[in-house]
Amino acid sequence: MVQFPISPSPNKTKLEHDFTYLKKYGNNTRQVELLEQRANKLYERNRWIPTRASRVQEILGIIHEVRTQISAIVQLDTMIPNEEVHRKCRDIIREGARELNSKRTRSASRIESDRLKEEDAIRRDQESIEEAIQQQASPLAPFATTEVKIYKLELDAPIDENLLIISEPFSCYGDLEWHLHGNKLVLEPDLWRRLEEKHGFSEDGRIWDIPLFDQPIDSNVLCVVSRKCRRFAYTLALAHQFGGEEVPVPLDVVPFYDVQTEDKGCCTPSCRSLRQHLRVRWPNQWVITAKSLKAPHIPSVVDVEFHASRFLPGTNSLYFSWKPIQAASAPT
Ligand SMILES: [Zn+2]
Repeated sequence: MVQFPISPSPNKTKLEHDFTYLKKYGNNTRQVELLEQRANKLYERNRWIPTRASRVQEILGIIHEVRTQISAIVQLDTMIPNEEVHRKCRDIIREGARELNSKRTRSASRIESDRLKEEDAIRRDQESIEEAIQQQASPLAPFATTEVKIYKLELDAPIDENLLIISEPFSCYGDLEWHLHGNKLVLEPDLWRRLEEKHGFSEDGRIWDIPLFDQPIDSNVLCVVSRKCRRFAYTLALAHQFGGEEVPVPLDVVPFYDVQTEDKGCCTPSCRSLRQHLRVRWPNQWVITAKSLKAPHIPSVVDVEFHASRFLPGTNSLYFSWKPIQAASAPT
């Protein structure tokens, strides 16, 4: 059985917190993404080597400094696009990237390709801010142009029948939930939003979360799960078909105390591993790999037991890739 540490390292948590902040307020999305990729790579490369503890602290320090400088200029009470703030953020992140680059050795061709990537990110962020400013100036803003795609995850119907397109104005996620419940579109809905943040296990795979009730709608792809249809609390898993689509699916998770005191498993007979549990749920699928989104450094969680202390309810905690069983190479 693979041992599974429950809490991530404090250093990693620190890094994640800083990037969560930067992604929310940095408003230079692609530049922040690039910085995050590089910081994570450098962190992972150094974290296991005891003699490089001070290098790890330097990496954390650089990112924290970027956050501190950005927090001094963004106005937290308003997310209105502002070109001057955008420009200042761009320069702060660029300086952070330069500092980070000074902590690693790179070939000349690598330096050049990194530079091109950075320029491209800056250019695309500039285009986004210009577009946002233009939209803000339009008399229809902010809600009239909002179109939200919502995937209902309960039904075994083709995906387009599970798709709701909402183009009415709603001031926040809570209002939209009331609308779905009140019109009997989805009973006791949990709304999940797709974030810009990528999880890195697949090329374009994104992370999802449950937004706050009074938060303005800031994602145009959502999914909705009806709590009324669940047996237990559930975790949101990302099911990625090999060479195909990645879709969120709710998975009920058995509470941990049941496992300890009553030896009650997720299914009868009890599944001994996540692989087996997914097999019960989808008999025609072969799971290729599974990762914990809460402990991404674990190479594979496919053999761990499936319960709530490992796959937290109310979070997007699992990614797995699969292929249809006929097409899978036979397990040995
Ligand atoms: Zn099971």
